[in-house]
Amino acid sequence: MRSFLPDFQVRVPATLPEALDLLAAEPGAWTPLAGGTDLMVLFNAGRLQARRFLDLSRLFELRGVQDEPGRLTLGALTTFSELREQRVVHQCFPNLVKSARATGALAIQNRGTLGGNIVNASPAADTPPALLAYGAEVELTSPAGARWIPYADFHQGYKRMDLGPAELLTRIRLPKPEGMGYHFYRKVGTRQAQAISKVCLAAYARLEGRVLADLRIGLGAVAPVPARATGTEALLRGRALDALPFEAARDALQADIAPIDDIRASAHFRRVVAGNVLVQMLKELAAVRA
Ligand SMILES: Cc1cc2nc3c(=O)[nH]c(=O)nc-3n(C[C@H](O)[C@H](O)[C@H](O)COP(=O)(O)OP(=O)(O)OC[C@H]3O[C@@H](n4cnc5c(N)ncnc54)[C@H](O)[C@@H]3O)c2cc1C
Repeated sequence: MRSFLPDFQVRVPATLPEALDLLAAEPGAWTPLAGGTDLMVLFNAGRLQARRFLDLSRLFELRGVQDEPGRLTLGALTTFSELREQRVVHQCFPNLVKSARATGALAIQNRGTLGGNIVNASPAADTPPALLAYGAEVELTSPAGARWIPYADFHQGYKRMDLGPAELLTRIRLPKPEGMGYHFYRKVGTRQAQAISKVCLAAYARLEGRVLADLRIGLGAVAPVPARATGTEALLRGRALDALPFEAARDALQADIAPIDDIRASAHFRRVVAGNVLVQMLKELAAVRA
């Protein structure tokens, strides 16, 4: 049954310190509300447990795109549509553009935020694999100050995060790729659009001539958390593009993932498809003219 609106309380702090003080005064009492595209699904279904919300929409500190030499910093309230509109994101982080395009439809892209996608912590969310592939870091801010951590360390288990009750995710920072690079992003769902991922794989490879100098692979929907394929990366790092071990990489990937059976796909399907998408990516990489 739909939730009863008068049961809910919303505060709209005007500044970040005000928001953080509220969070710190009653740890766990206030739930941050960004675009609401995850929270309102629960609200509509009458399954929203939280009753008190902190609307983040007026916090300018969580907005904006800061383009500096060597890195790009995105406010946590950056929407998917804003990601799609930024020239620098197209130039340096095309996988992030693809992930934003693959998220819901335009209405969701206009409201849904990058920060909400991260903190909602769905293993099937679509920007996390791209963020992992690009070596993103996240900024977590409390009244005590701000700390940056690698995004790869943020998710600690299913819906468990390195995020204190008095902390907000404030910014996301990405190092700009340098030199010759290869970007790959593929989401596999029931349809091409408006579908939740059954498997998602994003990769960024740095090339030195025809050698795979470095590689990061981010995966969605194949583990309790968005995950790096570190064993597969280690197997492939330093290899010549003309001698990539496709089948050994497929095997290595199986050790990096831990998919489950659920309503969307079986664990077996996810294992087979993740391996196929990896080999597709490696074949494209082998054909790159570096
Ligand atoms: C029809 C539909 C289709 C969708 N399709 C997709 C899809 O294809 N791919 C996909 O990945 N997702 C999809 N989603 C899910 C959703 O749109 C995204 O996860 C979105 O990024 C959530 O962002 P939001 O700002 O709306 O988050 P909210 O709903 O406002 O918040 C989500 C969670 O994050 C917390 N939170 C938000 N911002 C912060 C912050 N700065 N600091 C701390 N905590 C914070 C909130 O407390 C809440 O727990 C879909 C949702 C709908 C309704």
